[in-house]
Amino acid sequence: MPEHDAPGDARFATRQVHAGSVPDPVSGSRAQPIHATSSFVFDDAEHAAALFAGERSGNQYARMHNPTTAAFAARLAALEGGVAAVALASGQAASAATLLALARPGARVVCSNQVFGGTDALFRRWLVPWGVDLMTAPPEPDALAAAFDERTVACWVESIANPSGSVPDLPALAERCAAAGVPLVVDNTWGCAGYLCRPLAHGAAAVVHSATKWIGGHGSFVGGVVVDGGSFDWSAGRVPALCQPDAQGRSPQVRFGAAALAGRVHELGLFTLGATLSPFAAFLGLQGLETLDLRVQRSCDTALVLARWLAAQPQVERVAYPGLEDHPSHAVARRVLQHGFGAVVAFDLAEQRRAHACLDAFRLVSHLANIGDVRSVAIHPWTTTHRSLSEAARRAAGVTPGLVRLSLGLEDPDDLREDLAQALRAAAGSA
Ligand SMILES: *Cc1c(COP(=O)(O)O)cnc(C)c1O
Repeated sequence: MPEHDAPGDARFATRQVHAGSVPDPVSGSRAQPIHATSSFVFDDAEHAAALFAGERSGNQYARMHNPTTAAFAARLAALEGGVAAVALASGQAASAATLLALARPGARVVCSNQVFGGTDALFRRWLVPWGVDLMTAPPEPDALAAAFDERTVACWVESIANPSGSVPDLPALAERCAAAGVPLVVDNTWGCAGYLCRPLAHGAAAVVHSATKWIGGHGSFVGGVVVDGGSFDWSAGRVPALCQPDAQGRSPQVRFGAAALAGRVHELGLFTLGATLSPFAAFLGLQGLETLDLRVQRSCDTALVLARWLAAQPQVERVAYPGLEDHPSHAVARRVLQHGFGAVVAFDLAEQRRAHACLDAFRLVSHLANIGDVRSVAIHPWTTTHRSLSEAARRAAGVTPGLVRLSLGLEDPDDLREDLAQALRAAAGSA
């Protein structure tokens, strides 16, 4: 990151508009230019050779390097407090590249049983058949740590689980992980790039994100990011994939220093897999970040008001929102989150046909598969996002047939309440 983009001690709101980006030295463009190019001209043959040998750093080819994408990644690293970040084609690509960097056949990964359906699919359709031993447990420090063994290369949780709203006690979990030498990886998509939750400050080794959600914030592209905390001691040998030497006799730690994980994510996710984020999407991500705290604060405030209102409605059996006093994670959420409890409220209408009728009746709320949009959006996880999980796994993740997941946007809360009220009436009428 250039030195003068935002002072290292600048506060969050300043970093979200400045970090990683400086006025373009050639044109003076203040907004980050979109570098729509596949390749970059070398100074001379020696320069090209040095770049390809890894003796010098610089732009080679846009599968691996792009200044717009690099600015986006650098801004995320600054917001999360990491040493380096890699932007990828989607949140799913970010998760896959991270697990590919950490795990090898024979390794164990311990994962929360309350995760995004795509994360579960990544394990069950790829990593497990590849030979990774997957252990799942509720996102509680003791339950997860009980599954650690000598071969464990990662502990994976979500900062706010999708859609149960469970918030793991990250400081306590990080302590268990440190005692066992296991890197803690947090999917911080719902923690909004560090505005609501800062897993690295709580002791996580790395953070992954779907930038599709609150980072982009406008439902206009798909992207992902991995942020390396730079503090995990890979040389302890717990994670062979990151400490053993390659064919040239150099381990990732030797090659990439503190950013060993980010270096391997870059190499595996971009160079070998080609899961590269387009610079156009990176630009949208940068522009989204510039209003992140304002959008997230508004959405969280609306979510709390509407969660309380929903809890008082006779048609609603249960509301899952960590901001409500009766949510099992409420006390932990007060310690681990800041500014709010997230922008997603899930509510249970007891039966699938009522949940479907509610979704069909929405006028303002859009029925679609996304969260973190400026527009309020909703979906029925049981029959969509979580349908690849077994029925028992869905229930363990807090997904029930009557559950509606609602991600609050920036509309006037009174208009949203009115839309919810008429949709709940329609759902009750469907019974
Ligand atoms: C959406 C989501 C993902 C996957 O991200 P994509 O950008 O859709 O690939 C991963 N984790 C969580 C928590 C998500 O909400």
